[in-house]
Amino acid sequence: MNRDEETLLKLERHMEQALRNHPHSRDILDALKPVILGRIRILGTLRLKDADFENIDRARLKDGIPVIRQATLMHDGAAVREVALAILPDMKKGLPAIAGDLETLEEGIRKGIVDPAGVLHSFPEAFMESVDALAERASVRPSAVDFLLRTVARILLEKRAGELAEILKGMDWDRGYCPVCGALPAVSMIQEKGGQRWLHCAQCGHEWRFSRVICPCCGHEGQKGMTYYFVEGRDLESAFICEKCDKYLITLTKVGNLEDSDFEIAAMSLVHLDMIMQEKGFTPMTVCSWNAFGR
Ligand SMILES: [Zn+2]
Ligand SMILES: [Zn+2]
Repeated sequence: MNRDEETLLKLERHMEQALRNHPHSRDILDALKPVILGRIRILGTLRLKDADFENIDRARLKDGIPVIRQATLMHDGAAVREVALAILPDMKKGLPAIAGDLETLEEGIRKGIVDPAGVLHSFPEAFMESVDALAERASVRPSAVDFLLRTVARILLEKRAGELAEILKGMDWDRGYCPVCGALPAVSMIQEKGGQRWLHCAQCGHEWRFSRVICPCCGHEGQKGMTYYFVEGRDLESAFICEKCDKYLITLTKVGNLEDSDFEIAAMSLVHLDMIMQEKGFTPMTVCSWNAFGR
């Protein structure tokens, strides 16, 4: 069995487990499953032009400047187009409600009228403005463009994050945002044994260790003003809440090996916690495909 097949089998197992624990998450898992499987498939064969990693300065990283601000990670226009066309059929399968818009975008990319690389050029600063402009030009909903381009960006950035593993290894990164792409975490996991907290970035898939007593979003430190919310009897699944910045972060306590877990699938099965937190007036640290209600 090769590594990709192993990854796919592991993923199936994590999905089954998530569904057993939280049957209500079937809709979201069914919708995102084809996209997750497609992402793994594409990552297995994708080859990108070399990035300018020689520009990465360890001292600047130490000062908290993520790689995306030091090197160009998504400059490969041909790869952007290739990835978009490869993932679109999976997206249409999972999300029939926006399949029409995705079809229009697919056709536009094939004909060269829609240029996804141009939008990713502005990532992340002017991203939303570029998304709106492209949506208007292509006469589709901005949410469809947003979802497509975030999915493409994730695949490209995850590939780059893999290439960067050696550079990032052994580096002291003590920030609450991702050292690769600068995004705030979408989910965190606490190892029961030893109590380490790991943060997971949904924008590039990177994971890094971070203090348990500091809010990753605003840097607030100490026990005061920070709590965990959980449903009675399910204290391994919680939401970390910072009352200073009114943000929450879905947090799982993992008994056993952290390696044998999938942060994102676990988070997707806990959307009920996202709903409760948002009803209480808190906002997620980062908006991602499974926690953006009413957008
Ligand atoms: Zn990241
Ligand atoms: Zn905070």
